[in-house]
Amino acid sequence: MTVSRPIRVHVAPAAIRDNYRLVKRLAPAAKAWAVIKADAYGHGQWRAVAALRDEADGFAVLECENAVALRQGGVTQPILLLEGIFSPADVAAVVEHRLTTVVHCHEQLDWLLRGSRHDTPLSLCLKLNTGMNRLGFTAATLPLARELLRRMPQAEITLMTHFAEADGESGVDWQLERFRALAGDWRGPCSLANSAAILRHPQTHADWVRPGIMLYGASPFADQSAADFGLRPAMALDSQIIGVQEVAAGERVGYGGVFTAPRPMRIGIVACGYADGYPRQAPNGTPLAVAGRRTGTLGRVSMDMLACDLSDIPAAGIGAPVTLWGDGTGGSVPADEVAAAAGTIAYELFCAVAPRVPVVLGER
Ligand SMILES: *Cc1c(COP(=O)(O)O)cnc(C)c1O
Repeated sequence: MTVSRPIRVHVAPAAIRDNYRLVKRLAPAAKAWAVIKADAYGHGQWRAVAALRDEADGFAVLECENAVALRQGGVTQPILLLEGIFSPADVAAVVEHRLTTVVHCHEQLDWLLRGSRHDTPLSLCLKLNTGMNRLGFTAATLPLARELLRRMPQAEITLMTHFAEADGESGVDWQLERFRALAGDWRGPCSLANSAAILRHPQTHADWVRPGIMLYGASPFADQSAADFGLRPAMALDSQIIGVQEVAAGERVGYGGVFTAPRPMRIGIVACGYADGYPRQAPNGTPLAVAGRRTGTLGRVSMDMLACDLSDIPAAGIGAPVTLWGDGTGGSVPADEVAAAAGTIAYELFCAVAPRVPVVLGER
């Protein structure tokens, strides 16, 4: 179905590929798991796979069924299950499709021990909890894990951990210290770095890095932009002006009348609302671009529409191109800036784009 309502999400596979290449330049000695969970952060898992099919060292997903679909879709690289298996029933697929699986608890090891055989190889990422306190083994639980692993000589093991604040003040060194203490005399492969660590903490690159958000051209940092690193936005959310109102000073705009015009204003109504995935909490002044000019939202975001200030863009009428974020037909607005204004992060904006928004492939 072609939809005449003008909102579109543009996805640029070439940008994903360029961003992956930047990962490889920054961490030249490491292999990279291209993290494509959450439908490639809203960009479409298969689009990301197509973009990286010839160059990704591996792909990382959450669901076992999804990993199997990737294998059946012809992906030959290693595929990592980032949270490991969720039930004993997953072991058969792990073995049959040579999936690499995280193990973060004794139960998972137990399921693998019962469901696999010494003569079939098994690739495991043993997850250490070094301070994130979400998943993984600690000094208290690691000895039993090692014990269980000794009964699986067929297992190739990578040691792994995840950083809680690679983007922030406390950094990674405190977790690195814990990682080294837990790893002891381990000489095998290690995987630690997410995008923030890849970009800011080269001492964490090790054998496998795990880039997610940077592949999609957004920054993991509040204080440094994606463009600063040479990352290219892979997503643009575009729409058009579908209504214009000239309002007098004192008129209020939208539900709840939370914006009052301080002077006569020209207001544009954009075909984009929270049911398209635009954040409802975005306040007055959240940036967007109309016909190549930056402006801001006005009033509350509705389900299907939002309002913006066209007072300084007199040429923009019905049909004028609008870019909500990314490098789009209406102009250029970093998703990170929209996210910051709305009190969230670009990760959430990308993942929230609704299925009703038609996708257009390629650069604008
Ligand atoms: C999602 C995820 C990543 C990617 O993180 P980004 O911040 O998007 O780079 C890396 N490792 C694990 C374990 C993850 O779950």
